[in-house]
Amino acid sequence: MCRHLAYLGPPVPLARLLVEPPRGLYEQSWQPRRQRHGTVNVDGFGVGWYPPEPTIALPSPGAPGGTPAGPHGAPAARAGRPGDGAGDPGFPLPARYRRALPVWADPNLADLARTIASGAVLAAVRSATEGTTPDESAAAPFRDGRWLFSHNGAVPDWTRLPTGLGPAELLALEAHSDSALLWAMVAGRLRRGEPPGGALAAVIREVAAARPSARLNFLLTDGRTIAASAWGDTLWYRLRPGAVVVASEPDDAVGESLGEWREVPDRSLLLATTDGVRVIALRPERKDTP
Ligand code: GLN
Repeated sequence: MCRHLAYLGPPVPLARLLVEPPRGLYEQSWQPRRQRHGTVNVDGFGVGWYPPEPTIALPSPGAPGGTPAGPHGAPAARAGRPGDGAGDPGFPLPARYRRALPVWADPNLADLARTIASGAVLAAVRSATEGTTPDESAAAPFRDGRWLFSHNGAVPDWTRLPTGLGPAELLALEAHSDSALLWAMVAGRLRRGEPPGGALAAVIREVAAARPSARLNFLLTDGRTIAASAWGDTLWYRLRPGAVVVASEPDDAVGESLGEWREVPDRSLLLATTDGVRVIALRPERKDTP
């Protein structure tokens, strides 16, 4: 199955996160070391990244040398705050670059990765599950407003999975794949205001109750926080002062030493910011849970 990675920290060129690490996501596309299912990840890849957030306090509109006014006289941009939604004009929405090629076969990636820097990134290399869309629409990250999402895993018999989604939501799926379906379930909860960790945990419980052998390693970010799950495949993280990476597997080479990488136990939820990481055990579905 796929490998994926999310990063929050000081802006770095995408190449430093994805291409340069000797055991990084780039190499994991043809030689993953810890992947539990599948062998290579050559059915596409995707990178999502956030532009820098405005951090300077902007003078009020009309002040000498002030910011050009946006529509209706509002400032054209303002600094976002944690918890702000996509409706905040200052909240930086992410960009994506996705292809249906093996990552090494893309002639554009080297230049893009060398020249684009970001402090918030989510990327994935894909091993497509049988019967799913083969084109780039099924390559993670999926996006909804400020959210980026990736799924490493597979759901058996997913076309008949009870999801609670309505016909309009099902028709709006970006791709014919289990991952796109799971993303619609998660995104619906985020839109209803559920916190990211709660949305992932709820979808895992729901899907695992209907398909106990489903593999559900999720990665979700809004550019300021990361929520992730370990449910059937590997998950690791590395926290340094002011920077965190959450990834399917460590990217270090040195003598196979794991250095600062920590493994997340299976059946866990991980919540991370640049300040710290919390790992919470996920309990199986309980019938008496409201
Ligand atoms: N099932 C998903 C897909 O087809 C994810 C696959 C994976 O984890 N390799 O894209």
